[in-house]
Amino acid sequence: MKLYNTMSRSVEEFVPIVPGQVSMYCCGPTVYNYAHIGNLRTYIFEDVLKRTLERAGYSVKHVMNITDVGHLTGDGDDGEDKMEKSARETGKSVWDIAAFYTKAFFRDEEALNIIRPDIVCKATDHIQDMINLIKRLEEGGHTYTAGGNVYFSIDSISDYGKLARLNIEDLKSGARIEIDSNKKNPKDFVLWFTNSKFAGQAMTWDSPWGRGYPGWHIECSAMSMKYLGEHFDIHCGGIDAIPVHHTNEIAQSEAATGKTWVNYWCHGEFLLMGNAKMSKSSGGFVTLPDLEKKGYDALDYRYFCLTGHYRSQLRFSFEALDAAKTAREGLCDRIVGYKKESAPSENPSEEARAYMKAFDDAMFSDLGAPQALSVLWKMVKDASLSAADKLAAAYYMDDVLGLRLRDAEASRSDVVGSEDDLKLLQERTEAKKAKDFKRADEIRDELKKRGYNVKDTPSGAILEKIV
Ligand code: AMP
Ligand code: ZN
Repeated sequence: MKLYNTMSRSVEEFVPIVPGQVSMYCCGPTVYNYAHIGNLRTYIFEDVLKRTLERAGYSVKHVMNITDVGHLTGDGDDGEDKMEKSARETGKSVWDIAAFYTKAFFRDEEALNIIRPDIVCKATDHIQDMINLIKRLEEGGHTYTAGGNVYFSIDSISDYGKLARLNIEDLKSGARIEIDSNKKNPKDFVLWFTNSKFAGQAMTWDSPWGRGYPGWHIECSAMSMKYLGEHFDIHCGGIDAIPVHHTNEIAQSEAATGKTWVNYWCHGEFLLMGNAKMSKSSGGFVTLPDLEKKGYDALDYRYFCLTGHYRSQLRFSFEALDAAKTAREGLCDRIVGYKKESAPSENPSEEARAYMKAFDDAMFSDLGAPQALSVLWKMVKDASLSAADKLAAAYYMDDVLGLRLRDAEASRSDVVGSEDDLKLLQERTEAKKAKDFKRADEIRDELKKRGYNVKDTPSGAILEKIV
């Protein structure tokens, strides 16, 4: 399997540390608001990566954090804690805010058929692990205390900024006007805030440096190392994490252990709204429930994301989402049709297997989901394949795509037809019961005009879209 590694800026052959196993850490949501569909694009990419690794035969240990403290509104340790801000604006407690938006996040993930990570860890449950890591950095001479806060000194290591390829000379010049005058180098960052800064913070803990709370970056280092060890395979996130968050995670992790921390850095590109990155701060963001309220299935959005490569920007529009919806529903209709004809083949033909291999080849080549989707479509349109073969191949591909094709019937059959169409269908059933076959036939013709065939099944009559 080949994967693009942000660290080397090239596509590399993936080789895990332990043969057959993959350790993967993904930065999770900051639970101060609903996730927007841009955030969700990143989690869909990570889910597809995990499913593809499993297809390649690896057993994957997937860890994701929940940021419920310490993520400030500014990337330079400025602003205020996003959780505190949300609490102040809504009049709720930070704990209630965290619980509410964590629940909403997993509801979205479930609707998008994102497999829950093996370990989901909350920052507030791991404060002691963070304190221990900061102590280790302190012992190694990588920290200093100023104005009550503990800072990481980037000048204490030789390769700060290697992931983002930051120019160290520029960093040292200090040309940037720094808001926090405690910092020796403008790129130094906070490991532990005490109440000397952001007084009134609701979430605080005792520490060797005073009562306070951790910086955002330290949580990912502490929790990933706790669950995956000091050296693991893959670290993921959105590309906006490269210059500060992931850069600082690497600096402190490798300073603490003295060795390479992560082998592959995988980043998903942005979802755009118009010409700009979709973001919470810009106000105009769209959530999954917004789409669902408009009549889209969450999986229409998942399909839409699969139409773009994860390392390319993807522009959101309702026209594009409509196209994804039509394509996904068309796929489901076909699956429903094959299911009526046959069960999936237990021993797919050579032709079907060739499609399955072409699909895997596309996915193993740095997650070529758009190419993999076109293999799927070519396969279903291939008249030489049996329904049994098509079902077997489609299900095989869907284990990676995650479009719930196996459930296609259940999710589609009961939604065919408007309320009015279904009323008419009911009228036909009653006419038949009353042996008024003339009326029953009239209704059948009327429904045909509306684009439906009437099908009598053991559990009653249903409508089928004429395709
Ligand atoms: P947050 O909850 O703000 O920490 O963000 C969660 C994840 O979404 C991070 O991995 C971000 O990099 C990612 N992200 C933020 N905005 C976008 C966007 N417009 N498109 C794709 N991913 C994004
Ligand atoms: Zn992180």
